[in-house]
Amino acid sequence: MAGMNQRPGAGSTANPRPRRVPALLAAATPVRTWPLLPALLLLSAACRDAPAPGPAPSSSAASAASAASAASAASAASAASAASPASATPAPPAGGILDLHVHLPARAAVPALLERMQRHGISRAVILSSSPLFPGARARGPFAELGPANDLVLDVAAAHPGTLIPFVALDLAAQRPADLDALVQRGACGVKLYQGNHELHERPLADPSHRPLWEALAARRIPVLLHVNTVRYRAELDSVLRAHPGLNLVCAHFCGARTALDRLEDLMKAHPSLLFDTSNGSAAFAAEGFASFEREHDRVRSLIARAPERFLFGSDLVPTQAGPDWPSAWDLQWEANLGVLRAERFAFWRTQPPLKALTRGEYRGLALPPEVLTPILRGNAERWLGACLRRLK
Ligand SMILES: [Zn+2]
Repeated sequence: MAGMNQRPGAGSTANPRPRRVPALLAAATPVRTWPLLPALLLLSAACRDAPAPGPAPSSSAASAASAASAASAASAASAASAASPASATPAPPAGGILDLHVHLPARAAVPALLERMQRHGISRAVILSSSPLFPGARARGPFAELGPANDLVLDVAAAHPGTLIPFVALDLAAQRPADLDALVQRGACGVKLYQGNHELHERPLADPSHRPLWEALAARRIPVLLHVNTVRYRAELDSVLRAHPGLNLVCAHFCGARTALDRLEDLMKAHPSLLFDTSNGSAAFAAEGFASFEREHDRVRSLIARAPERFLFGSDLVPTQAGPDWPSAWDLQWEANLGVLRAERFAFWRTQPPLKALTRGEYRGLALPPEVLTPILRGNAERWLGACLRRLK
C-alpha cells in the first residue's frame, strides 16, 4: 500500500519520496495498528504521485513500516496541533470557507466531517468519489469500485444539500458521455479524475479513447478536478488542454508543481484558463510543499497575488477514522493547509535530515492579504462550481 508512491519510474527525481517513516517519532511512540489503518494509508498514498526514486519495498515490510509511521504521526498530531502558534488568523470569508478537495471513502465519517468542518469555518466541501483509493482497489483494478464510490458521494450529498458537493469519478477510457450525463442527472456537480496519478495512469491523458469524455466535459462546462503529475505527464496535459479549450479544469496540488515554481509559472502562462488547487495534503507530502513555500516565500506570494482568481483552497483531507487520534490529525491538516495561505506562522511536521524523520515544527506562512485570500477560500470555487452550486443553495 505505501508502495503506491514508492515504485521506481520514469521522470525526474526532483521530489523526494514522500511518506518516509518518521523514525524519531516511531521510536518515541508506542506502535499500534487499527483495522482501518491500511485503508488510511492506501487512501493518502494514492493521492500522491511525486516521482518515486528507489526500489519498491516488500509489501509486508512496507505495510508494517507505514503502519508505524501513520500510527506515530497520528499520535503526535495532537501535540503538534496543541503547539499551534498564536499568530492571529484572519476571519474566514462571510458565509464560510469552501474546501474543494475532500475525499470520501466511507459513509461512517460523515457526521464527524460535518462537525469538524464547522470548527474550522468550512461551510461547504466538495466530496470526491474515491474508488481508486478503496482498500484492495489495486488488485481489482483502479476503477473496479467506481459505481459504489460514486453512489456513496451522491447519496451523502443528497442528504446534505449545499454543504457537501458531490464529485463523481470516471474512467476516461471505459465510460461514455451518456454515463456522465446520467451521473449529472443524479446530482453530480463535477468530476474527479485520477488518471494523471502515475499509479493510475493506464494510458496517456490525451489517448484517443479518452476523447469523447474530454469533449463532453468541455461542452457541458462540468467542473473537473484533475490530479496530474506534471513532471511525468506535462506534455499530455498540454495536449488535452489545447484540444479542449472549454474544459473547466482545476489542477490539484498546484498542478503538481508546488516544489517547481518555474513549472508552475510556465503552466499558468501556457494555459490562461487553467485553475489550481492549493492542497498540500498531509504528512511528508505536505511538509515538502510547506518547506518549499517557506524557501520561496516571496516568489510564491507574488505569483499567487498576481492572479488570485486562479487559486482555490483545498485540503486533500481523507477523513478516515483510523487510530484514536484522527480528530487531531484532521484538525492539523486543515489548520496547516489553511495556515500556509493565511498565517504568518503555522504548526506542522517538519522533515529533518538526514533520516527525513518528521518532527513537530513551525513554518512561515504566506500570510496573503485579505483581497487575495478571500476569493481563494470561497469565491473562486463558487465561480468554478457555477450553476450546480446555485442549484444546491
Ligand atoms: Zn486528493
